[in-house]
Amino acid sequence: MYVCGPTVYARAHVGNARPFVLGMWLRSWLRSQGYDVTLVHNITDINDKIYEAAPGASAPLAERATRWYLEDTADLGLGMPDHVPKASELVPQIVAFIEQLVERGHAYAVEGDVYFRVASYPEYGRLSGQRPDDVEEQEPNPLKEDPRDFALWKANKPDEDTWWDSPWGRGRPGWHIECSVMAEELLGPAFEIHGGGLDLVFPHHENEVAQSRALGREFARIWAHNGILRFTGEKMSKSLGNVTTLREAIDEYGRETVLVFFLTGHWSKPIDFSEETVRAAQARAERFRDVLRAASEPAPPDAWQRFAAALDDDFNTPQALAVMHEWRDHDLLLRALGVFGLAALAAEAEAPEEIRALAEQRAAARDRRDFGEADRLREEIESRGWTVRDVAGDGGFQLVPRA
Ligand SMILES: [Zn+2]
Repeated sequence: MYVCGPTVYARAHVGNARPFVLGMWLRSWLRSQGYDVTLVHNITDINDKIYEAAPGASAPLAERATRWYLEDTADLGLGMPDHVPKASELVPQIVAFIEQLVERGHAYAVEGDVYFRVASYPEYGRLSGQRPDDVEEQEPNPLKEDPRDFALWKANKPDEDTWWDSPWGRGRPGWHIECSVMAEELLGPAFEIHGGGLDLVFPHHENEVAQSRALGREFARIWAHNGILRFTGEKMSKSLGNVTTLREAIDEYGRETVLVFFLTGHWSKPIDFSEETVRAAQARAERFRDVLRAASEPAPPDAWQRFAAALDDDFNTPQALAVMHEWRDHDLLLRALGVFGLAALAAEAEAPEEIRALAEQRAAARDRRDFGEADRLREEIESRGWTVRDVAGDGGFQLVPRA
């Protein structure tokens, strides 16, 4: 599997976490079904957006934002992809790939830039469902043979602080060629699943296909484009209104709520991030904790099959979630939660009675606006190895073991 990763110039938007989360869940599910899965998730650390965000200093920004992305996604507690290549580590392979495209007539150089010759690949437009003649112009340049042609290599410009030598002079790769090369280097010329946000179908994925297939590689067999995340809801709470990055979402609501939130939407559809949907996800996580605090009751014999059938049917996580909410069987529930990195909900469910009592006293102190006492109690809870988190709106709280 290859899942397109972020272009690194800022903290990742909470919506950028969706392809990562889906990739990790799908790997986890497929492995549990006996498949041998390798997941590649790239870091685009050479890109116009990074040069624009930090003219003359893109490299340190890309390095910092790469670190943020790796830290923030690690905090989701899902583990990491098998390979997280950076474009900047594969420039010689990218140059070699472009040279082959030029040799075979699929690309041409103009004043230090190299463009893909769209007319040389008759299937162009098929992935995004466009007729070749209707394809909109990318990267305008009057020197191109055809307005549809897109850049594989870009000549170095004065405010660009990184460049590499190439047969066409100093420059750097275009965005699309980076992914064709990273996928092929780590997965070979043919692989099963290519993921990424729906906004990448055109031009990014259309161009990846064209570059790789023009050289006779089969490339991806299945495309899995996830729906985008939308900020919705008229009345955003003050806190939610400020949450736009993955970091903020994890800090504000906890990783379990963020993960349950993503489970509530079918991966191929848009998902709404609003006060209402985040609260609903929080409540669902709390329901699982309640079940795990109560006595276990055996589930019907076909329970797991129904869960598996939901995931085998186009990875329908909302359906799988509905099945999980019917269960009172701890073993079964933990096995299912484990597929989604949520087995730790059991640990949270088991906060000792005296810690829960302290957390309740703290909630009461907050209610009467005695914030000094509330802070003291929070510190006491922390000194005993637990973190208390407020659940938005209803005076509730979550207890999480400290890492
Ligand atoms: Zn990509």
